[in-house]
Amino acid sequence: MRIPFSYLPMQFADADAIWAKIRAVVERGDFTLGQELAAFEEAFAEKIGVRHAIGVNSGTDALFLTLKARGIKGQVITTPYSFYATTATIVHAGATPVFADTGYCFNLNPSAVAAAITDQTEAIVAVHWAGRPCDIAFLRDLADRKGLLLIEDAAHAFGARWADRACGAWGHAGAFSMHPLKTLNVWGDGGVITTDDILLADKLRRMRNHGMRNRDVCEEWGWNSRLDTIQAVVAHHVMARIDAIILRRRMNADRLFAQLRDVKEIAWAEQLPQSFHTYYLFSVRALERRDELVAGLQSLGVDAKVHYPTPLHLQPAARHLGYIEGDFPVAEELAKTTITLPAHEFVTNEQIDFMAAAVRSFYGYPPFQLQSSAP
Ligand SMILES: *Cc1c(COP(=O)(O)O)cnc(C)c1O
Repeated sequence: MRIPFSYLPMQFADADAIWAKIRAVVERGDFTLGQELAAFEEAFAEKIGVRHAIGVNSGTDALFLTLKARGIKGQVITTPYSFYATTATIVHAGATPVFADTGYCFNLNPSAVAAAITDQTEAIVAVHWAGRPCDIAFLRDLADRKGLLLIEDAAHAFGARWADRACGAWGHAGAFSMHPLKTLNVWGDGGVITTDDILLADKLRRMRNHGMRNRDVCEEWGWNSRLDTIQAVVAHHVMARIDAIILRRRMNADRLFAQLRDVKEIAWAEQLPQSFHTYYLFSVRALERRDELVAGLQSLGVDAKVHYPTPLHLQPAARHLGYIEGDFPVAEELAKTTITLPAHEFVTNEQIDFMAAAVRSFYGYPPFQLQSSAP
């Protein structure tokens, strides 16, 4: 059985509706800041429940431009367990990343964030790892009390919610990626910034477009970071079916959990009632022989992966920050134990059962059927 991690050829196998809309864009010559971009931004803002959504050319730029727009230059507290861009954008904005440890839920530990605040701290960049919201209500309250900017790196978390509000609507700004491998994806690169703050939104709209107030006035030195109109067409199309995609991923996750519940070597974070997880990644911890398990699954055709084997503070790029092994024990333990199984919307029940059986057999557990008939 082949269970691939990438589902892109299947996802866009039937893309005639997208092609038709792109043809119209081409025929109008409406390539940059076109009408489809405005329509997409409006729909995105409505979906997240914020006043403004600004399309930019990547999730990386969404983070970077937001930090630049607010002139953040001091310390920025963030997680050592994320993709590189979360930290890189802080450095490139001219600020200093300060890591705080995670919990076993893969997200920032709120009390570690509180403890890391100094009089140099200007902002917090919080990630919703794998589509599982971090305790963003706590962080918003903390940020407001301390006068800090809170940016949500929601690259993994389109459609996720904490309590009654979407990820991306809790912070002063939210940064989304639409890279092909993200839940809401396009045919190349794309990103979106969400905010309720009209001044920030206006500034970001200028910054992504050369700092132009209009054709003849350059308000400030900007960048070229527009979301292409053609990509907005793709994103809008995918967004129309995103709830079904997320539902399917949640069902796949439930089916995996049900069959792995008694496997003591596999650990996952508690499901909190206020947290709506979208399973951008189905990541759990394999407490024993992780690398062997990954290799074993790979040899059976299951495209299991490790996100990620090395936390950010131990990457060569982070050398200048002066961290050493042992500084963030939980994040380091995650890196040693995490495993991601393909559980995306194109994985079938049969494939889920196959993966669960393979994990059970690896750790010497009997098949799930026998187990479920026990009292
Ligand atoms: C993918 C990702 C980004 C960067 O997004 P791009 O669109 O690839 O630039 C930022 N943060 C996290 C957590 C990501 O996974």
